[in-house]
Amino acid sequence: MSGILIFSENNATALELLTAGLGLKATMNQPLCAVALAEEDAAALAAAGADKVILLKGRDWPEGYAQPIAELAAKDLAAVILIGGTARGKDIAAKVADGLDAGLVTEAQTIEIVDDKLQTTRLKYGGLAVASEATVLPAVVTVAPRTFDKATAAGGQGQIISLDTADGDPRVKVSDLCPIERQGVDIAAAARIVCVGRGLSQKEDLALAEDLAKALTAEIGCTRGIAEDYHWLPVERYIGISGQKVKPEVYLSLGVSGQVQHVAGIRDSKIIVAVDSNEKAPIFEAADYGIVGDLYEVAPLLTAAFKK
Ligand SMILES: Cc1cc2nc3c(=O)[nH]c(=O)nc-3n(C[C@H](O)[C@H](O)[C@H](O)COP(=O)(O)OP(=O)(O)OC[C@H]3O[C@@H](n4cnc5c(N)ncnc54)[C@H](O)[C@@H]3O)c2cc1C
Repeated sequence: MSGILIFSENNATALELLTAGLGLKATMNQPLCAVALAEEDAAALAAAGADKVILLKGRDWPEGYAQPIAELAAKDLAAVILIGGTARGKDIAAKVADGLDAGLVTEAQTIEIVDDKLQTTRLKYGGLAVASEATVLPAVVTVAPRTFDKATAAGGQGQIISLDTADGDPRVKVSDLCPIERQGVDIAAAARIVCVGRGLSQKEDLALAEDLAKALTAEIGCTRGIAEDYHWLPVERYIGISGQKVKPEVYLSLGVSGQVQHVAGIRDSKIIVAVDSNEKAPIFEAADYGIVGDLYEVAPLLTAAFKK
């Protein structure tokens, strides 16, 4: 059996992959190689426990590194290739798997080696079921951001090797890069979230949630309908299977029914508190604490209590 290779263009996610990779290394007893695109990222990965870090240079955009990553994996005979499940990472993972003629497992939540096969679990049907799958090696696996904690070790002596991969795909020419302008914070990284749903009757009532969020030092999130149908909040604030996946310490919902597509994005929250007037709302099945009541009465009471 051969080694482990990890890659994410986002270094926070790469450090999470390192945790998963070090777990595999403990059973596989094989070296762990990380791929980075920036010097400081390479240094962080080497310090946190990667045996070797390949610092790739020379391509215009992260997607351009799919082919060099596949070549590295083939050369190093990597048995398991972990790639951060960002939008770009998913694109790269598919190309790396194709380049290696290897299987691809997406959004894995647990990753082990059992009987020389990759054993993974991942959610299916919007989080209603857990699929447990065995895949022959080599295999490429995407792991969603925040699935694992970041590797925190320091003082590692991993070797850093720079590799220039300037000869990109001549069919692709990047003429301009326009970063998406975000309105507000990255909700996916918020430690506390007050999430509003269609239990709110009108846009002006968002003030209730904002007061509560202020008292809790939380960010405002929402369901898809609030962002995409009503346009009361920007789309980057909506949470769920097709929105942001969040992992806060506290998620508190106001008038959110808790349909499976929404709950898929919140189930990793540490504490889920739900306020809904319908005691049969599915959100109460996911919640640690539930308050059956009118949000227009409950939210101001909670705000006052948290202010104290
Ligand atoms: C392919 C697909 C992908 C989707 N992806 C997502 C996704 O990523 N994220 C997402 O959020 N949705 C997603 N959806 C939509 C999802 O199925 C639900 O329709 C949506 O989550 C419901 O939003 P809601 O809870 O705000 O509204 P509703 O389901 O209408 O619920 C409103 C809730 O408010 C309560 N309520 C009403 N008045 C009050 C009051 N005064 N006080 C307290 N409670 C009150 C009601 O009892 C109800 O439970 C997706 C759907 C599909 C088909």
